[in-house]
Amino acid sequence: MTSLYSCQHISHSYQQGAQTFPALHDVNLEIKAGEFCLIMGPSGSGKSTLLNLLGLIEPLQKGRIFFHGQDLQAIDEARKNQLRRFQLGFIFQSFHLFDVLTAAENVEFFLTRQGVPTAERRTRVQQALEAVDLWQHREKRPQDMSGGQRQRVAIARALAKQPAVILADEPTASLDQDTARSILVLLKNLCDQGRTIIVSSHDPLARTYASRVLNLKDGHLQAGGQADAH
Ligand code: ADP
Ligand code: MG
Repeated sequence: MTSLYSCQHISHSYQQGAQTFPALHDVNLEIKAGEFCLIMGPSGSGKSTLLNLLGLIEPLQKGRIFFHGQDLQAIDEARKNQLRRFQLGFIFQSFHLFDVLTAAENVEFFLTRQGVPTAERRTRVQQALEAVDLWQHREKRPQDMSGGQRQRVAIARALAKQPAVILADEPTASLDQDTARSILVLLKNLCDQGRTIIVSSHDPLARTYASRVLNLKDGHLQAGGQADAH
């Protein structure tokens, strides 16, 4: 099976004034379709940077990333947008929900922007909210929901795009253990339905649900970056 992602010699740093903050050092990584890949590491180890590169949120500085065998450096911005819109569902650590919109409207928002027709939008919103067990809460705004429910709205919003890949940056970070577990079960179910799940976490609980665990330390990926190793 060919890799979904192949990352070769990725390094990344952030520049602030005269200072350089290194984030990733020569990371090599293969991820296959259908994996539940967990990126573990303490705060500052480079997890968000790696996810942002895989999600085409952060521009690649050094190295190469292939997605379905396609060199991401070689494709134009329009094609990258297409990948972001239709193939990659990104769940941000801080949810990024609109406070003034209801759960259903939050899920629908980007579908409208993508030009998905109304009837299809309604179907997808319902399916996505049902998948995260929030359909009965669809009229609520984020401030009237718990942290776990907000996280599920964020997952539903990613799901409504019907992406092949879901990238989630510390999806359980602000949740209590029981709620964290329910979010991990949900992501595992999405993986069992055929999606590729790539999650970052510093929570050991997440290990139980992943098909592969990668460890990042100070921007270095420890052994195990090759999918064949497991
Ligand atoms: P993690 O998600 O594991 O906490 P990050 O990828 O956010 O790690 O950060 C990796 C390193 O890059 C850290 O040392 C962090 O301080 C630094 N970093 C991340 N984003 C920025 C930024 N915008 N400007 C400067 N340094 C940053
Ligand atoms: Mg982070």
